[in-house]
Amino acid sequence: MPSRHLLKGFRCLKWGQPISTHVAKGYEWSIKPWWGEFRNKEHEQAFLRQHAPLVAGQLQLALLVWMFLLLIFAIPDYLTLGPGTDFFILLAMRLATSVLILALFVAVGFKAQLAVQGRWISLVEVVAISLFMLVYFYRPDILSWTITVTLLMILGVIALVPNRLKAAVPVAFYMAVLTALVLLYLGSLDESEFVGLLVIFSLPIGIGWAGALRANVLQRRQFALFQQSTQLNAELTREIEMRKRLQEQLQHQATTDALTGLNNRHQYQQLFARELSRSMRLRQPMSLGIIDLDHFKQVNDTWGHSAGDEVLRRVAQLCRDNFRDIDILGRLGGEEFVVLLPDTTQEQAIIVAQRFIETLANTPIDIGTRDIQVTATIGVVTRQPDETSLEGLIKRADDALYKGKEAGRNQVMPG
Ligand code: GH3
Ligand code: MG
Ligand code: MG
Repeated sequence: MPSRHLLKGFRCLKWGQPISTHVAKGYEWSIKPWWGEFRNKEHEQAFLRQHAPLVAGQLQLALLVWMFLLLIFAIPDYLTLGPGTDFFILLAMRLATSVLILALFVAVGFKAQLAVQGRWISLVEVVAISLFMLVYFYRPDILSWTITVTLLMILGVIALVPNRLKAAVPVAFYMAVLTALVLLYLGSLDESEFVGLLVIFSLPIGIGWAGALRANVLQRRQFALFQQSTQLNAELTREIEMRKRLQEQLQHQATTDALTGLNNRHQYQQLFARELSRSMRLRQPMSLGIIDLDHFKQVNDTWGHSAGDEVLRRVAQLCRDNFRDIDILGRLGGEEFVVLLPDTTQEQAIIVAQRFIETLANTPIDIGTRDIQVTATIGVVTRQPDETSLEGLIKRADDALYKGKEAGRNQVMPG
């Protein structure tokens, strides 16, 4: 019976499972079990793009070390072979390989993306490894070291030179097989030893593979989690903004009149009450006007209800344009508007109202099919020092308005 831990270990190998089911649906963020890369190509590219500068730096360091080792071993070559042809052939190989490595070093310096593409690194590795086999031909004295050298180089190829695992593993196998074949050819091995050596070389490949795979998976899991949380954050921010907009819309709907956009009754009553108490506290004057369009019923009857609506919208806009920002405008109902003028005496209020009446009478109103003229009558009152009720104020303004209508409309009537 395999132990529970062993089974668990095997289960851990199922890296193909999605990391989190919260954001990732299906296998969006799943990782390939053998190579430790994202199944989703776009995610893999994004991961590689993000890591390219770091990997490029690591690769450049590995290339420098590789070049250094390659050149430094020219010394034992010289000590063993002396300044003969064999030495120069090996030196030429070492220099040629170094130039190749240097070329990759420079290319990666210019374009970090090359460091995560795999093919260029693998190409340099394959050429360098193939050329390196010359050493075994010209230095039969080191054949006893071959296995150690190859083991170290296999680990180097997989663990130290940053490369895509799916490229590094075949390169390592290529090196193992090539070395074993060279040794077979040189007569250092018989067939059974050849097979044994391949098995031995497989061990560092397996170990390197497992280690690199684990690093790949952990890095990608971290990347995926970061991406997921960024995505979640963005969604959350969008949601918050949407709710904020919705709340603003609701607030707007709850406080304004749908047709004209002016304050609705509930809202202007609240604003008026605040202004009233401020006026009482500071003993400042405060005036209020009720604007009623003249013969508005005729507008509806003649041009239709929607033309009437358009007139109401235009008049509301005219109110907004003509009164000060601190004046509080509201739709009292139907074709009646109310305006509260803070810090305004009766005389000032009459002037302001008169100006509005004249502006309205002189402004043609476009109802789509044609321009029409409308007029209004305004009842204006000012708060008495002892007056504390809004209703009283509005009632007085309404009475004044009525008088204005009686007196012939299109005028300001103080109350
Ligand atoms: P007066 O000069 O005496 O004020 O005459 P008037 O016709 O303006 O007065 P009245 O109060 O008789 O008519 C008001 C009209 O306003 C009646 C109604 O059809 C119209 N009205 C009220 N609310 C709306 C609205 O929201 N849209 C439109 N198009 N008309 C409205
Ligand atoms: Mg009316
Ligand atoms: Mg009217």
